[in-house]
Amino acid sequence: MVKLLIKDGIRLDGRKPDELRKIKIEAGVLHRADGSCYLEWGENKILAAVYGPREALPRHIQDSTKAIVNARYNMASFSVEERKRPGPDRRSIEISKVTSEALEGVIFTELFPRTMIDVCIEVLNAEAGTRCAGITAAAVALADAGIPMKDLPVACAAGKVDGTVVLDLTSGEDKEGEADLPVAIAPRTEEILLMQMDGHMTYKEFEEALELALKGCKKVHELQREALLNKYKDFEV
Ligand code: UDP
Repeated sequence: MVKLLIKDGIRLDGRKPDELRKIKIEAGVLHRADGSCYLEWGENKILAAVYGPREALPRHIQDSTKAIVNARYNMASFSVEERKRPGPDRRSIEISKVTSEALEGVIFTELFPRTMIDVCIEVLNAEAGTRCAGITAAAVALADAGIPMKDLPVACAAGKVDGTVVLDLTSGEDKEGEADLPVAIAPRTEEILLMQMDGHMTYKEFEEALELALKGCKKVHELQREALLNKYKDFEV
């Protein structure tokens, strides 16, 4: 096999197979939203804002037993190499759906019947792994909004590139590599909230990639915690 993306165990951007890109997380960056987060993950730049719980309208969409989690993932036209047509497309509708379901898995929705919790994820710059970065930012924004959750969800992808299982794929690795496995978890219990796979891996490689993604999630979770502690360290209890 010709190796184009990994040479002598080092990837094109200088990372080892199990290394994450550089991540920066800031909580509470928007004053108008109930909760917010700005996240940079490699070249990904993502803004997440939470609004609610608010009365779900029109009333026929209300659920009398729980809140509806309404995540909306949106890519700015200028966020990708080739200008993206504004507005929802198949991909963003899919990512919005899986993100809503992942977040619903940790939010105590039964505490807020008949309401809606809006989670807006705006991708300002995209470089692969945006659904994981979006879920990670949304989790911090939800915590910043004071939404009760059983855990602070986090996401990270692993995959296979040039026959090697790697953590946190870049755009080139995503396009040219063999497989991408985005995973979101509730870190305390390791309950899986989202798992998707693009491409092919053997079962053994899948197990290895999943383990690597979980390790990545744990590291990113520490940064989420730090961002929240940083925002609230000066508040009196
Ligand atoms: N991408 C793009 N144009 C699009 C959609 C995606 O250039 O309309 C790029 C973008 O960098 C994105 C990457 O392709 O991050 C991988 O997209 P994928 O659907 O695998 O989702 P992601 O890895 O971002 O969760």
